[in-house]
Amino acid sequence: MSDQAGFTGAGETMSRQLGDFFSLDRPALEQAMAEMGQPRFRADQVWGWVYRQSVDSFEAMTNLPALLRRRLSELYTLTPATVASSQTDEPSQTRKDLLRLADSETIECVLMREPHGHTACLSTQVGCSMGCSICATGQAGFRRDLTPAEIVFQVVHFNRQLARLPEEPRARVGNVVFMGMGEPLLNYQATMAAIARLCDPYGLAMNPRNITVSTVGLPERILALAREPLPLRLAVSLHSPDQEVRQRILPKAGRVPIHELIQACEAYADSHNQRITFEYALIRGVNDSEADARRLVRLIGSLPAHVNLIPLNPTPGSAFQPSTPRATQAFQEVLKRSRIPCTVRHSRGIAIQAGCGQLRGCQL
Ligand code: SF4
Repeated sequence: MSDQAGFTGAGETMSRQLGDFFSLDRPALEQAMAEMGQPRFRADQVWGWVYRQSVDSFEAMTNLPALLRRRLSELYTLTPATVASSQTDEPSQTRKDLLRLADSETIECVLMREPHGHTACLSTQVGCSMGCSICATGQAGFRRDLTPAEIVFQVVHFNRQLARLPEEPRARVGNVVFMGMGEPLLNYQATMAAIARLCDPYGLAMNPRNITVSTVGLPERILALAREPLPLRLAVSLHSPDQEVRQRILPKAGRVPIHELIQACEAYADSHNQRITFEYALIRGVNDSEADARRLVRLIGSLPAHVNLIPLNPTPGSAFQPSTPRATQAFQEVLKRSRIPCTVRHSRGIAIQAGCGQLRGCQL
C-alpha cells in the first residue's frame, strides 16, 4: 500500500539507525527511490541538492513532496560526521577541521581558500601505518581505513562552509589533494570510489586533473593507478635520491628500491601523459646539500617532473630541522641549472598545525 507520495511500508524503519546518505552511490540512490515507489527523476533531484546545492537537510529540498522529505529524514543522515573543533589561520585563509566520525574516531581535513580556486586537503585513513619520521600522523599509528563516504563527505562539508560565505555564496572546492591523514594508495579501493564520486558529472563534477593523489611511493599501487582511466595528478614523496637517507626519513616506504619507484613513476607519466610532482622536504644536514641536488637531477632528470621543495615543517618530537634559506636556495639553483622545474613551497596554516606532515587527528 502506498501513501500519497508513493511510499510503501511507511514507518517500518523508524526504529533503525539513520543510514549515511553518502554511502549511496547513484545507482543505489535510484534503487532506494524505486523501493519508495518514487520515479527516477527524484533521485536526480536529491543528488543535485546534496552535491550541487550543498544543502544539509532533506527539509531544504523544496521541490520534493513533503512526505518524501520526511521519509528521507527518517532513513538517512546528511551529516555523518560532526565538527569536533575548527581552527582558522586568517593570514593564509586556511581552515583546519577535526571531524568526529560515526564511530567517534577523528580525522582532520584542511581548506585552503585562494583567489583562483579553493583546495581541500583530504584524509583517507584514521592515522597511518607508514610511520614517516617527518609526519605527525605517522607517529600516531594506524586506526582504520576511511570509507568512500567518509572521504567524499570532507569535500561536501567544506562546500557547505563555502556556501555560507556571504561574499562568495557560489564558491566550491575546485581542487582536491590527498595529502591529509593516511596513505591513499593503502586505501586504494575506497580512494578510487571516492574520486569517482567527486568527478560524477551530475554531482560535484570535479575535473580529475584538479585531483592530486599524494603517495609516499608504493610502486605496485602507482602502476595500478596508471591503469585507471582518470588522468589524476600524482605527487610522490621522494625526500632523497639516496636509498639509505630516504629510509631514514621514511622508514617503511624507504625500503622500496628507489629505481623501482622511479620506473613506476615513468609508467604513470607515460600512461596519463602527466608530469609527476616530487615532494622533497629539505632537512638540514640530511638531504639538502648541493651534492644531494645533483644526485636528484641524475635520478629524475629524464622524467617529466616538477619538484616541490618544502622547508620542513615542525612536528613534535622530531629530531629533524628545516634547511636554512641559503641551503634551500643553493639546492634550487642546482635544479634550475639542470632545467628541472621546481618551486619552494611554504606550507600554509603552519600556525594551526595544518601544514604538510602536521595533521594528527586529535584535539590538542
Ligand atoms: S607522510 Fe603520509 S604516508 Fe607518511 S606517515 Fe604521514 S600520512 Fe602516512
